[in-house]
Amino acid sequence: MNASGVPGPDGLAARLTAVQGGIAAAAVAAGRDPALLTTIVVTKFQPVSLLEELAALGVREFGESRHQEAQAKASALAGLDLTWHFVGQVQGKKARLVRAYADVIHSVDRGSLVDALRSEESVVDCFVQVNLTDDPGRGGVAPGDLHPLVEQVLSTAGLRLLGLMAVAPLGAEPRRAFARVRDLGEQIQRLAPTATSLSMGMSEDYAEAIVEGATHLRIGTAITGNRPVPG
Ligand SMILES: *Cc1c(COP(=O)(O)O)cnc(C)c1O
Repeated sequence: MNASGVPGPDGLAARLTAVQGGIAAAAVAAGRDPALLTTIVVTKFQPVSLLEELAALGVREFGESRHQEAQAKASALAGLDLTWHFVGQVQGKKARLVRAYADVIHSVDRGSLVDALRSEESVVDCFVQVNLTDDPGRGGVAPGDLHPLVEQVLSTAGLRLLGLMAVAPLGAEPRRAFARVRDLGEQIQRLAPTATSLSMGMSEDYAEAIVEGATHLRIGTAITGNRPVPG
């Protein structure tokens, strides 16, 4: 809100500053260097104009979760040198298209998708997403199937594994969920010593994620304000 109580760019700047401050404070409290954390602003369903405002405020890392929308935004803002993180479920038949504009894919979660992302021409950074719920529809690989999927990513041309991504399940204590991801991350580092990143923590739980070692925070509404109803 700006001085007149109307949501606008002032509100956006204030929320961005507040979240950046919250992240820095949580990092320092956890004995971690805030400069080593990447904050991704998740702008799904938001108009291109809001991304432009964020870019003018210095944001360079953007997260999107729907292919067509992400592709259109990346194309509209191609002149701004932004980094695009794809955080939603990827359909196999859209995989190559997502790969074309995404700098980082956070949601690699099945063998058929790894195959679809194979490339001999270029390398894309990725996370393997872990599903911490019992609902297979949530996206992410079941923890019991994680190791073979990681091995497949490591042996596939064109993919560089950064680490693991997860969403804390609704109703669960986020810190416990993130501690589990950290454990799984330590396990996969035996297979992939450089895959040390953890993409976890959203608007409501980023502080807990930072305590448990998050390196990539995916923050939407705490910065953008409420999302418009998806069209
Ligand atoms: C929407 C979304 C976010 C951001 O959620 P907020 O609660 O708005 O911060 C983070 N990660 C994923 C995968 C998302 O889909």
